Amino acid sequence: MPTTPHPRRGVTNCTRCGAPIRWASGPQPGQRTPLNALPSPAGGLAAHTTGLGGLVVRELTPDRPEPEHIEWKAIAHWPSCTGTVDSRPSPPAVPIRRPARRRVANQPPLWGQGRWGR
Ligand SMILES: [Zn+2]
Repeated sequence: MPTTPHPRRGVTNCTRCGAPIRWASGPQPGQRTPLNALPSPAGGLAAHTTGLGGLVVRELTPDRPEPEHIEWKAIAHWPSCTGTVDSRPSPPAVPIRRPARRRVANQPPLWGQGRWGR
């Protein structure tokens, strides 16, 4: 019987769009996949929490098309991530430095200047 994941445990925020996600191991060995934190019926993945608190994900396959036991249906975050749009302006990584302005010396007015024309 599928379960639902803990509402907050293991949940972090996507660094690109801020959406709540969970990092899972898989589906390929050694791979790390961000999942939407909430289960999705449209998901093509099944995730389950290990005894150590980690999250493991596998792909739903024709012979195992439904989440089993403690698995829940998950969807990878990338397709729904709204933070990858490159057209959005992003703040520059390094603040723009204006050329240092020469400090105006405290200079007395030249002789004859100042009142001319009045
Ligand atoms: Zn995102």
